[in-house]
Amino acid sequence: MRQSHLFTKTRKEIPADETSKNAQLLLKAGYVHKEMAGVYSYLPLGIRVLSKIENIVREEMDAIGGQEITMATLHPKDPWVQTGAWDSVDVLFKIQSRTEKEYALGQSEEEIVTPIAREYLTSYKDLPKAIYQIGNKYRDELRAKSGVMRGREFRMKDMYSFHATQEDFDRYYAIAKQAYLKIFDRLGLVAKATEASGGAFTTKLSYEFMVLTDAGEDDIVYCDTCTHCANVEVSDQKVGETCSRCGKGTLNTAKASEVGNIFDLGQKYTKAFDFSLNTPDGEAFFPIMGCFGIGTTRVVGVVAEALSDDKGLVWPESIAPFRVHLLALGDDEKVKAEAETLYTALTKAGVEVLFDDRADMSAGAKFADADLIGIPTRVVVSTRSLEAGGVVVKKRTEEKGSVISVEAFMNSLMPKA
Ligand code: ATP
Ligand code: MG
Repeated sequence: MRQSHLFTKTRKEIPADETSKNAQLLLKAGYVHKEMAGVYSYLPLGIRVLSKIENIVREEMDAIGGQEITMATLHPKDPWVQTGAWDSVDVLFKIQSRTEKEYALGQSEEEIVTPIAREYLTSYKDLPKAIYQIGNKYRDELRAKSGVMRGREFRMKDMYSFHATQEDFDRYYAIAKQAYLKIFDRLGLVAKATEASGGAFTTKLSYEFMVLTDAGEDDIVYCDTCTHCANVEVSDQKVGETCSRCGKGTLNTAKASEVGNIFDLGQKYTKAFDFSLNTPDGEAFFPIMGCFGIGTTRVVGVVAEALSDDKGLVWPESIAPFRVHLLALGDDEKVKAEAETLYTALTKAGVEVLFDDRADMSAGAKFADADLIGIPTRVVVSTRSLEAGGVVVKKRTEEKGSVISVEAFMNSLMPKA
């Protein structure tokens, strides 16, 4: 894509009330637009990142047998009354129509998914099944000061699974945990799986997937040697103690942000909606449900927060809006022609490239924009680079670039045989 055609420009002025680093960077670079505290629109660059995150999540959910659906976000009141959540869930947005009928905005989807499952899963032979969606959620969060990491409107992947026995749930839970670790790895994040009690939903064990960042709202303790990690709230071990799990490492503490969680809902919702099936022996049972969430817009914020530097965003390859940022410097005709040729070659080769072809813009301003936008590889064509025999290639994470021939640069982008 040509930067001269890009809908957004980088900007210096952003809403004065925006205090979080992730949203400041995303606003300046043109990924999001702020509507109000906790509510952001996603612009072309932002959508490219969000779609890549959601596609990785989708691939890994499909790989463990999840089937994608889309559920309504405007909910009838009745199922929320039936589970008691209408009165007990404080973040639930309730709205009234002009006929004074009441509705809820989806903050989670157990109230919708369980009645759907009850209609289609009619025999024990239909179990296990897992369905998921990736969509908008609404929560009346009191503190919405963490930018896109805590939205009042945000996006989440939520999967729900249905099982005949606890053993079958446990089997699937272990598979889902591995899928989650794979997802965060593919997203370029180091996520630790904490053991925590399941909050409002259940007293059973759950895992929260935590990424270390000072902008996080959770405090965790973790072992510096093994994978042991726990929320400070529930941990029976303190900082500085020897890890009870491996007996070798020492426990550290850190701020972290929860990017996902998985938990055992037990029979809470199947009982609430009277969703029962019969065993082969004709005995009635309520299926056991699992719930598996990932905050996809929170991931955008966590990456912006945890992987950025003082110059701007730094996207991992797998979720960057473009793979290459091509900069043409100056108005020399030879430079323009070489840059155009390279742009065509990259596009033909299927490499996603943002081409800074903007006229009347200083080299310094183009470099500053490239750093702010945070595309992994920057390639510069200028009079000087051509004299030196090619283009200057620099990774966003490197301080200095190096001159290589156009051919060598193209080869470096091709998949290794
Ligand atoms: P938190 O403790 O951060 O409020 P939660 O326990 O309420 O999270 P869940 O209801 O389990 O979260 O939602 C699943 C995932 O959705 C979370 O792990 C998080 O990544 C994301 N998430 C939750 N609330 C928000 C929010 N307000 N804005 C953005 N993402 C959110
Ligand atoms: Mg919450």
